[in-house]
Amino acid sequence: MTVFRRQSLVAYGQPLCETVAELPAPQGTEVLVRIARCGVCHSDVHLQDGYFDLGQDRKLDVTGGRALPFTLGHEIAGVIESAGPEAADAAAGRAVAVFPWIGCGHCADCLAGDENLCNAPRNLGVNIDGGFATHVLVPHPRYLLDYAPLPTALAAAYMCSGLTAYSALKKVEKAGARGPLLLVGLGGVGMMGLAFARAMFLHAPLVADIDPAKREAALAAGAAAAFDPGDRNARKEIAALTSGGPRGVCDFVGSDRSLAFATGAVGKGGKVVVAGLLGGALPLSVPLFPLKVMTIEGTFVGTLAEAKEMLALARSGKVAPAPISERPLSDAQRSLDDLRHGRIVGRVVLTAK
Ligand SMILES: [Zn+2]
Ligand SMILES: [Zn+2]
Repeated sequence: MTVFRRQSLVAYGQPLCETVAELPAPQGTEVLVRIARCGVCHSDVHLQDGYFDLGQDRKLDVTGGRALPFTLGHEIAGVIESAGPEAADAAAGRAVAVFPWIGCGHCADCLAGDENLCNAPRNLGVNIDGGFATHVLVPHPRYLLDYAPLPTALAAAYMCSGLTAYSALKKVEKAGARGPLLLVGLGGVGMMGLAFARAMFLHAPLVADIDPAKREAALAAGAAAAFDPGDRNARKEIAALTSGGPRGVCDFVGSDRSLAFATGAVGKGGKVVVAGLLGGALPLSVPLFPLKVMTIEGTFVGTLAEAKEMLALARSGKVAPAPISERPLSDAQRSLDDLRHGRIVGRVVLTAK
């Protein structure tokens, strides 16, 4: 029996622990990928908790439909090790990033290419075993994307934080053509958003974060100006720089405070895209929707087509690499703890050795 190692979720709210399981043999269209890198995402923290905070003491339970021990981790890149008989085009030895937002494959959303909206998802590291391990089983080779000449760790991180940022920016593409966007929150996704915005738009974006170190990092990475959302003058200064407020704002935090700041800052006819999942609830003044002609739109990861577009842009060399630090797979729990406490600038990617 050949076995493989995983950093497993064995109980919600408890630390991950190493487990060993029998290495699966790929069946049908399945492909077995030997993992080289797997990024650690803030949503892994919520999945480990077993819930998302909806605000006002309400919680969204996310413990359903998952047998424990379970392997978290959805920012995966590695090398094809073996493939099932119906996955002939998956050549062993090929280096691939793994698109994890996999749907059922046959509902209306999946058939339209919106697998990230599927109601019977098979998301890697969320619904089926993911990447905090030495190997992962992928349902079909069409989810395996070439990434050369990008670094493997960056290609892995692009599969969630990069894709989330790219898909959010696509939703304010028109606004980005008119003037600078405002990006709120400079964690892993926000920094990716900054890098992609620099490549996609003429105007460098404005950024906001409560952490001065993150604002410094964003300015060094090409942000036009950085603001502390807690500063009372921030909105006024942003309005002055954008003739009345940016027409596109991406909220990469997703808390009551970040969304209040985003909706306060957005200009007339503008759109706020909420990509973050931190938690909270807030009352919104209803008349501001018509008076400001304001749109608030949610976005969740992205489609396979967007992942390919994003990788093509990154592979062309136009996107500055986001800051990444690498740690051994055995540091999965320490990395989740650091993320939970906001102790990380950029992205942490685990090396499966
Ligand atoms: Zn993620
Ligand atoms: Zn589906």
